[in-house]
Amino acid sequence: MHLMDDITIGRAERALAERILPAVHGPIVALQVSRHELPGEPVAPALAIAADYGPFETGAEWGRAWGTTWFRLEGRIPPEWAGRPVEALIDLGFGRSMPGFQCEGLAFTAAGRAIKSLNPQNQWVRVSDLADEDGRVEFFVEAASNPVLLQDLRFEKTLQGDIRTASDRALYRLRRADLAVLRTDVFELAMDLDVLLGLQRQLPEGPRRARILQALDDAIDVLDLQDVAGSAAAAREPLRAVLAAPAEHSAHRISAIGHAHIDSAWLWPIRETVRKLARTVASMLDLLDSSDDFLYGMSSAQQYAWIRDSHPDLWQRLKAAVESGRFIPLGGMWVESDTVMPSGESLVRQFLYGQRFFEKEFGLRPKGVWLPDTFGYSPALPQLIRRAGFEWFFTQKLSWNQTNLFPHHTFAWHGIDGSGILTHFPPMDTYAAELTAEELARASRTFRENRVVPGSIAPTGFGDGGGGTTREMLARAARTADLEGSPRVAWESPDDYFASLAGIRHRLPTWDGELYLEFHRGTLTSQHAMKQGNRRVEQLLVEAELWSATVSVRLGIPYPFDEIDALWQTVLLHQFHDILPGTSIAWVHREARETYGRLEREARALIERAQRELAGVGEEMLTFNGSAFEVQGVPAGGAAVLDGEGVGVVEIRETDRGWTLRNDLVEVQVTADGLIPSAVDLATGREAIFPGRAANVLHIHQDFPNKWDAWDVDPFYRNTRHDVADATSSSITVRGERAEIAVERAISEVSSVLQRISLEWGSRELVIEQTTEWRETEKLLKLSFPLNVRAEHTSAETQFGFVTRPTHTNTSWDDARFETSMHRYVHVAEGGFGIALTNDSSYGFDALRIRGENDWGIDIRPSLLRAPQYPDPETDQGTHSHRFGLVIGADLDAATRYGARAYAQRNVVRGAGSVDPLVVVRGSGIAVSSVKLAADRSGDLIVRAHEYLGCRTAGQLRISAPVSTIQQVSLLEDALEEPIAWGGSAAFDLGAFEVRTWRVRLDRPVGE
Ligand SMILES: [Zn+2]
Repeated sequence: MHLMDDITIGRAERALAERILPAVHGPIVALQVSRHELPGEPVAPALAIAADYGPFETGAEWGRAWGTTWFRLEGRIPPEWAGRPVEALIDLGFGRSMPGFQCEGLAFTAAGRAIKSLNPQNQWVRVSDLADEDGRVEFFVEAASNPVLLQDLRFEKTLQGDIRTASDRALYRLRRADLAVLRTDVFELAMDLDVLLGLQRQLPEGPRRARILQALDDAIDVLDLQDVAGSAAAAREPLRAVLAAPAEHSAHRISAIGHAHIDSAWLWPIRETVRKLARTVASMLDLLDSSDDFLYGMSSAQQYAWIRDSHPDLWQRLKAAVESGRFIPLGGMWVESDTVMPSGESLVRQFLYGQRFFEKEFGLRPKGVWLPDTFGYSPALPQLIRRAGFEWFFTQKLSWNQTNLFPHHTFAWHGIDGSGILTHFPPMDTYAAELTAEELARASRTFRENRVVPGSIAPTGFGDGGGGTTREMLARAARTADLEGSPRVAWESPDDYFASLAGIRHRLPTWDGELYLEFHRGTLTSQHAMKQGNRRVEQLLVEAELWSATVSVRLGIPYPFDEIDALWQTVLLHQFHDILPGTSIAWVHREARETYGRLEREARALIERAQRELAGVGEEMLTFNGSAFEVQGVPAGGAAVLDGEGVGVVEIRETDRGWTLRNDLVEVQVTADGLIPSAVDLATGREAIFPGRAANVLHIHQDFPNKWDAWDVDPFYRNTRHDVADATSSSITVRGERAEIAVERAISEVSSVLQRISLEWGSRELVIEQTTEWRETEKLLKLSFPLNVRAEHTSAETQFGFVTRPTHTNTSWDDARFETSMHRYVHVAEGGFGIALTNDSSYGFDALRIRGENDWGIDIRPSLLRAPQYPDPETDQGTHSHRFGLVIGADLDAATRYGARAYAQRNVVRGAGSVDPLVVVRGSGIAVSSVKLAADRSGDLIVRAHEYLGCRTAGQLRISAPVSTIQQVSLLEDALEEPIAWGGSAAFDLGAFEVRTWRVRLDRPVGE
C-alpha cells in the first residue's frame, strides 16, 4: 500500500474544522435581545437587572471602551427539543483568541444568580434548567466592553488604557444570540479527533501512529458529511480501540490542576479584576458541577475576599466547593506579589494575611507558595516560605529566560540562610495549559528530572485576564488519562504532586541563591512612584506598629488593629506583580499613586497619635527614632532630646574647580558642576573615586526594547549613552553642622535636574537629593558612581540580608545579570575598605567594571527613571525625587545602618521627657524588623529580629515592660516551642541571615 499519511491527516483535519465542529450545535432558534447601557461604572446585578431595557438588534454595535452593557435575552425552547441539552450561544464580538484581553460577559438568571462567563473560548450558556413549563427562557448578560490593549503581542502606544483618555466609539458588535441543542455525540467525536490528530503529530513513525491514522480514515469513512449529527456516534466506533490502548509503563505523569492566572490588575483596573474573578469563578463552579474528577485551584486571599464582598451567591457556592475539596485555595499569600522589591516584613505579611484569611474563611491553610508569573524570586524567600510553615514552592516564570535554560524543573531551592524548599516549575513552560498533545509531549520530553521524578504539574486553563479551564480541556484530560503514546493526565491537587516526591527528595538537584529572571529587568525601575510609594509606606507601617505597640503596652491605649490591617492589605495588594513592577495601564498607576498618598497620610497619623501620647505633656523637644538602629544618640524605638554634644562644623574650602567639604570622617571634592572627583576616608586616607573619573554624572540611555516596553531593558541599551555632567548653576549654603551644594543641570530642552549635595558632621554619607523634571521618551536615566575598589562582587540588600553577585561576566549567567536588584543599599569592597551607595526609592542598578592602565574599579549605577510608552504612554512623566548616599569607608554593617536611615522617621514632638524603647536587642549584626501586637489580638507582643551580616551571632533581648513568658513562634505567629518563663532578658543565637520571631506574653492585658 502506498503511504498516504498526509492525505489521511488532511482529510480528518478538514472534516473536523468544516463539518464536525460547526455541527456541534443544532438546530438553532434566535434569541430576542434588548439592552441597558450603564452610564458610568458597574453596578450591582440586581440594580442592572431591574433597569429599563431598550430594543437591540443582533448584529448591532455596542460598548464604548471600559463601558458596561446589560443585555436581556429572551426566547422559547421549541417543544421538540424536550429532553435534550439546550444552550444559548452568545458572540459578543469576540476576537478569535486571548480570552480576558477583550470584551467579556457574565450571564445571570433573572433572579440575579451568576451562571457562567462568556469569552471567545466559551461562548455558550446552558439554559435547559432556566426554562419555565412553556420552554420560555429569560436571562441577562453583563457585558464589559474592555478594549483590546495587547493584540498578537504587539506593544503599541495607546490612550485606551485609562477611562479618562479612552475613546467613546463602540468597540464591539453582537454577532450572535441563539438557542441551540448541544449534540453531545458530535462534541465527543470532535474531541476524539482533536486528541488523536494531536497525538499522531507527536509520535514517531511506527505501528502506534499508523494504527491511529488508519482509525482516522475508518472514522471519516463512516461519517456522513451531509448528516454529521446522525452519523457521529457511528463514526466514533472505529476510534474506540486506538483510544482504549493504555499508556506505557514509564509514561510521564501530568498532574493537572484547573487554573486561571488572573492578574489582580494589569491591562485592566482593579475594579475590572473583581468582575473577571466573578466570571471565572462562576464558570469554574459550573464546570465542577459537570464533572466528577475535575479540580480547580485559585490563589490570592485578596481575590477570594473580592468574591466574598461583591458576589455573595458565588461566595456561598465557592465555599461549598472548597469544603468538598474540589475548589482548592493555592498559595497562601495575600496576592501573587513581586518578591524582589517588597521588604522582608512585607513578604512576611503576604503570608500572614494570606494564611489568616484562608484559615478564617475555610478552616485550612494552603501548603505551598504559588507564584507562576512573578518576575524573579528573591534568595530570602526559601527561609521565609519555610518559617511561614509552607512545604513547597511553585513557579513557572523562569522558562521566560532570554539567555540561559534553567537546569531543573523539580529541585530543592536554597536561600541566603541555607534553608531549602521543595520547588517545581512545569516543563510544559506555561501557566495556562490547554492540555494539547503538543504541550503534553513537551512536558514529557523536556522534563529535567525524568531520571528520578515520574511527572510534572500542568496549571490548566486560560489565564492573565481570566477564563479558566474549558470543557474541551476536560475532554482532552479524560482521553489522555491512560493513552498509548501520551503522558498520563490526572486532575490532582498540587499538594499531592509534592507529597509524591517524599521518597525521592534526596535525589533531587539543588539550586542556591536568587532565581534571577533573565527578562523584565526594567520592572525594577518603571513607574518610580510605585517604588517610592511602596518603600515609604512599608517603613511607615512598621513604625506605626512599633509606636502603637509601645503606647499600648505602656499606657494601655487600644492598638489600632483594624486600621493597621487595612493599611497593610492595601500595601500588599499593590505589591502585585504588575503594579509595583510598573507594568500596568495608566488607569492602574494613576489610582495607585492616589492610594499610596492616602496610605502615607493614614500611617503618619497613626504614628503621630502614638508619639503624642508617649511624649506626654511638657516642653522638651523630643526626637523619635523609628529606625532599627541608634541615630545621633537616640536609641532605636525610643525618643530623646538631642544634646548637640560633640557636633562640629563641616569645613568648606573653595577651590579652582569648586569646593572641598571636610568633616570628622571624610573629605569630599565637589566641582562647580556638581561632580565628585574625590571622596577620601580620613582614617585610612583611601580615595573612593576611581582615578580620572568623577561620580554623580547623569547617564541617559536610549531605551527601546524589542518588546514588553515597561518590562524590559535589553542589553543593547548600553551601546548609546549621553552624559550630563555640566551644570547650569551651582551654589553652596551652610546650615549649622550641614553644608549643602545646590546644582542645576539640563538633561534636554524639556527635562532637568536639581541636586542638593550635602554633608553633615559625624556622617560618612555624602547625600545627593535629586529632583528631576522628566519629560523624556524611551530613555533610561542612571547616575554613575565610579568607585576605586576592585570589587569581585556586589552585595545588595534584599529581605533580611543581602545577595552577592559577581561583577565579572565570565559566564552567560553572570553576563545576563546586567541589571539587578537592591533594596536600601549596595556595597562593594576590597580588602579592608568598602563603599556603600544607599537609596530611598530605587530598586534597579548595574555594576560595570572600569578598566584602568593597571587597575580596575567598579561603576555602580542606580537606575532612576524610564519612559516606556506601553502600556502607559505617560510612564514616569513629571516631577520625581530621589535620595542617594555615598557612604565613604563603609563595611556591611555601616551600609545596613546608613541604608536603614534614609526613610526612617525622625519626628520631633514636644513632650515631658525621653521615651525608652519597649524592645532592645543587643548583639553584632542583629536588627529588629518588627515590634507589634499579635495578629490574634490576644494582646501578646510580637518581636522579630534577624542577622544581617551573614554571620553566626549571639544576642540578648530585653523588654522594658512586665513580661510573664516568651516563646519562639513562626512568621504566622504559631508556637514553635512551649512558652518559657521570663527571666528579665533572653539570650539567643542566630545563624547567618536567620529570622527569629518571638511571642511575648505581658503581665497585664493590653490592646482592645
Ligand atoms: Zn501575571
